[in-house]
Amino acid sequence: MFEKVLIANRGEIAVRIIRACKELGLRTVAVFSKADRESLHVKLADEAFCIGNNASAESYLNIPNIISVAEITDAEAIHPGYGFLSESADFAEICESCRITFIGPKTGSINLMGNKSLARETARKAGVTVIPGSRELVKDKDEALKLAHKIKYPVIVKASAGGGGRGMRVAHTDVSLVNGFLAAQAESEISFGSSDVYIEKFLDNPRHIEVQVLADQHGNTVHLGERDCSMQRRHQKLIEESPSPVVDDKLRAEMCDMAVRLAKYSNYESAGTVEFLLDKDGKFYFIEMNTRIQVEHTVTEMITGLDIIKEQIRIAAGEQLEIKQKDVNFSGVALECRINAEDPGNNFRPCPGKLEFVSLPGGPHVRVDSHIYAGYQIPAHYDSMLAKVITHGRDRREAIACMVRALDECLIEGVKTTIPLLLRIIQGGRFVNGDYGINFIDELFE
Ligand code: ADP
Repeated sequence: MFEKVLIANRGEIAVRIIRACKELGLRTVAVFSKADRESLHVKLADEAFCIGNNASAESYLNIPNIISVAEITDAEAIHPGYGFLSESADFAEICESCRITFIGPKTGSINLMGNKSLARETARKAGVTVIPGSRELVKDKDEALKLAHKIKYPVIVKASAGGGGRGMRVAHTDVSLVNGFLAAQAESEISFGSSDVYIEKFLDNPRHIEVQVLADQHGNTVHLGERDCSMQRRHQKLIEESPSPVVDDKLRAEMCDMAVRLAKYSNYESAGTVEFLLDKDGKFYFIEMNTRIQVEHTVTEMITGLDIIKEQIRIAAGEQLEIKQKDVNFSGVALECRINAEDPGNNFRPCPGKLEFVSLPGGPHVRVDSHIYAGYQIPAHYDSMLAKVITHGRDRREAIACMVRALDECLIEGVKTTIPLLLRIIQGGRFVNGDYGINFIDELFE
């Protein structure tokens, strides 16, 4: 096992990783941008170093500075969290060549799954159903039109290097396809430095269901069940839960089986998430695999009692998974609500600023993962998530009641947040009945 781990991230996930390290008896090194000098992860780590200016490109994406900190502090491993460098095969490779362990999968897996078109092809070869669409990259608009006529509108153009909902365009007609194709290419070039795009059928208000897997370096792979992340705004998740209210035991077994099959087929190591869309006929299709920890890993932890970050660290240190599939027990229902500093009444405009007062919820069956405190100044340079509130119940009704109580208790003053919207959604009939798809929130704001 390592003695010291550097956390190449900020915000709640940096705090979360520091917590896991401390429980494993590991020393921690935080890195921070100038804007984050007063951030909680800096205060909680054993050591902390400034790595650059406010812009991510100069700090949390600044590979030479991060590696230098690891070298001068003798950190043997780097946990990248999510976002930033977590899916950078280059970074993983540089870590490896500097003899620092990248806590995540091997470079080959990041490359393979980071290329969504290639990942689709790999899934297909592994026997996992993918959404009907292009087998390879779509080179020009004529090819795009030909394909769209074959699979029929609506279709979605997606950046092969895409992530975070960027580089995607839905098209219902030839005109919107040509425009969308060019726009997706341009957006992808700007965001990801690649204009590679592919096309698949656009499903009508499906559910987003994903399966958490854990795989060690010794060929052991298990799944930790599914998460339902259908409550999204513009393809960004807002509320997640496990298990899914619409997945029965048979479907669960099939989806989890497929996820494990793909992980094994691609020799995957570490924690990973296989994402599927579930259509109205109960058919599910692979969309992508995320090769990192996800924001919503918490709901899986709540119902399994496992610590996915600790598992990631142990796997990276070469340890065998202690659990076999039969040891994974699922208990009750967990929900997660993401509290963002955004104004839902004003097109979800981010609201950076000073938090005048903060009192986070507690009490039975509530978990809060957050980096905020009273007096904290939210920088304008990064994402707007302030906290994740997670609740657990013996059933969904209990988990919802606990969430309503916890969100009511959550006092954040100084900026606008998504709390009123979250409360409205989780108390509404559609959520309570589990009757919604990925378009639900967008339709609320139409
Ligand atoms: P990203 O990597 O940018 O998050 P994903 O491929 O994971 O992109 O898709 C993000 C979200 O976009 C999904 O959760 C879903 O809401 C929507 N989406 C993606 N592909 C399709 C599709 N073929 N049909 C309908 N919705 C889709």
